[in-house]
Amino acid sequence: MNLHSFKKIINGEMELSELKAAAHQETLKHFGRTIQLYAPLYLSNECVNSCVYCGFNRRSGIKRSTLTVDQAVREAEYLRKEGFQHILILTGEDPAKVPVSYIKEAVVELKKMFASLSVEIYPLMEEGYSELIKAGVDGLAIYQETYHRPTYQAVHPDGPKRDFGWRLEAPARGARAGMRKVGLGFLLGLYDWRYEAVRLAEHLQSLLKNHWQTQFQVSFPRINPAETNYRVKYPVSDDDFLRLVCALRLLFPEIGFTLSTRERAAFRDQIFRFGITQMSAGSKTSPGGYALAKKNGKQFEIADARTPREVGRSLKLAGYEPVWKDWERVLG
Ligand code: SF4
Repeated sequence: MNLHSFKKIINGEMELSELKAAAHQETLKHFGRTIQLYAPLYLSNECVNSCVYCGFNRRSGIKRSTLTVDQAVREAEYLRKEGFQHILILTGEDPAKVPVSYIKEAVVELKKMFASLSVEIYPLMEEGYSELIKAGVDGLAIYQETYHRPTYQAVHPDGPKRDFGWRLEAPARGARAGMRKVGLGFLLGLYDWRYEAVRLAEHLQSLLKNHWQTQFQVSFPRINPAETNYRVKYPVSDDDFLRLVCALRLLFPEIGFTLSTRERAAFRDQIFRFGITQMSAGSKTSPGGYALAKKNGKQFEIADARTPREVGRSLKLAGYEPVWKDWERVLG
């Protein structure tokens, strides 16, 4: 499929049932009946930005905390016991309170426990990403939130995140630094999803052309209630969400797609067949939310509260294999 056909499909050219069938077949062809499971691990909820849709925004008044490395290890031990081998390390964006040196320190300890560590943190220069890779990180997730510049400026009223271009270039910097996998996406609900989908597709096509050695992934975060009063201006229905995932699957048959616990269990159980290759499970979105049972501020509410084992069971019932580990660093 080319971008021209993709635009027609997201604008409703194909019946959703036909589109779902095609996306399902394409997914089976390239990924079989497997879904890789991962868990987020929040190290900090400190942030200097004011993203209007996010519970961590600096004006939200939540209880702030940054885990010590020992506390991060206790959280990690909990996740390892749950069976996870792939972890996404997250922080808010506060380079002064949560410097790269601290993240590296945590990574050095956590890499002893897991097969794969990705980070979702503030954008870095290429050298910063290289330092994290040396410490043990192999994946980067950095979402543009919205590709529509006026909306981007409106929802990021202050802080370093206002720099649209610096964020847009981050996936390429991560790829140049040698990240094995790089995830991108936009936040569904900030602007017209059809516009965002086309810009995302163009961004991904350009990255694939220039960084063929990197494994790119796409995520589909849909705005959920957070500790803010943000009212979603461009709601995305379940059918539109499905149309987006299926159309991207046909345009990018070999790219991994990630679905988080922002989505309801029933919807996740329905949609994963049509393109999803990786899902989070049992997520907590605050630092210390697992073993430490701390009541620090959350980034957003999760909608699928099932345990990791329950998610795994549900996949098996559907004839899919939950994959807890599909990669391991051998050297370094
Ligand atoms: S989205 Fe990220 S940068 Fe924005 S307030 Fe939340 S944690 Fe901070």
